[in-house]
Amino acid sequence: MDISFILNELGEDRENYFNAVAPPIVQTTNFAFNTVSELRDAMSDEFDSNIYSRGQNPTVNILRKKLAALDGAEDALLFNSGVGAISIAVLSLLKAGDHAISVKSPYSWTNKLFDKILPKFGISTSFVDGTDFKNFEQAILSNTRLIFLESPNTYNYQLQDLKKIAAIAQSRNIITIIDNSYCTPLFQQPIKMGIDVVAQSATKYIGGHSDVVGGVLTGSRAMIKRIFENEFMSMGTTLSPNSAWLLLRGLRTLPLRLNRSFESAKLITSWLNQHEAVEKVIWPFSPDFEQAALAAEQMQGCGGLFSIILKDSSFEKIESFCNNLQHILIAVSWGGHESLVIPAIASMKKEDYCADNKQHQLIRLYVGLEDPTYLVTDLSKALNKISSGTKLLSSELTE
Ligand SMILES: *Cc1c(COP(=O)(O)O)cnc(C)c1O
Repeated sequence: MDISFILNELGEDRENYFNAVAPPIVQTTNFAFNTVSELRDAMSDEFDSNIYSRGQNPTVNILRKKLAALDGAEDALLFNSGVGAISIAVLSLLKAGDHAISVKSPYSWTNKLFDKILPKFGISTSFVDGTDFKNFEQAILSNTRLIFLESPNTYNYQLQDLKKIAAIAQSRNIITIIDNSYCTPLFQQPIKMGIDVVAQSATKYIGGHSDVVGGVLTGSRAMIKRIFENEFMSMGTTLSPNSAWLLLRGLRTLPLRLNRSFESAKLITSWLNQHEAVEKVIWPFSPDFEQAALAAEQMQGCGGLFSIILKDSSFEKIESFCNNLQHILIAVSWGGHESLVIPAIASMKKEDYCADNKQHQLIRLYVGLEDPTYLVTDLSKALNKISSGTKLLSSELTE
């Protein structure tokens, strides 16, 4: 299906609402029926009926169709957050006594789910280094039911070989889930590579304006329906019609925003790579990235999120570099219009900082929609304030 068709037309029954180009926010909790028998029919198939907005809602359903189509999936389910989507999918697919395999260091709250919450229900998880697909095969036990992936990771950018891992899982009847927030379906299509369920934090690139929290799952109709009729309806992690409308508006410009972020990150990472104060830039589409070949094979583009390590990685230098930035904001999250910075030391006390631990040294940058020269000027000033010697000017930004 054409991406322009999906983003501009699919799912929009404009004749039902005055041919309005922007869809209405159907801000209602419940839907009325003419007869008890009509209500009974609807209740026998709540997955495809508008009865109550904790289940389905017409504004949310427009988004449902578009996000399923973007992923090349049969169906989609929207949630009030990205971790809500991940947690409900995982809870739905596992029961007491089951074993899961997760890539090491997934998103922090996903990690907590596997590491702390699932053990309460008798579910164990093995965390594996995802850079070698054989590690997944080796970790499989007789009770393994689920493999959880996040590729690329959003702190160390490590990739997993999606095709190879999907093939291993399929041959053992193990379900695969991936957190595809970094790439979005425009840059990576896991279902086409054999992955069963795709999760995304819609808060990031889908929304794109830093004003709405949401999540999405896509997969086969049978799988999505099963999750909807059980954990989704019981846990009540539904997306509001208002939030759905904001995500729909975000989707209209997704290709423009994603490409801008990608192109700017390309320029800025290569500029940073040449800067004398910078030791290393970690971004999957950098020529020196360790898994560059796999990135080129399974991703069509790259998000604007990357990390750097400074040559002088003292706690104070990292902190003052971040504080010196005037336009790049110090904040969590990413995927919006605004560029951001967050150092690993933001989540640790000074006495816990280990100067030769690369994970501690990471400074994560997100490149938003600003002019890349404007961002380079900001980075340049902040770097020059913490380093002496020859200075690289923003005018030296080259392609
Ligand atoms: C932000 C994020 C999440 C969580 O999404 P929320 O919408 O904040 O719940 C999950 N995975 C990744 C990779 C993220 O960046």
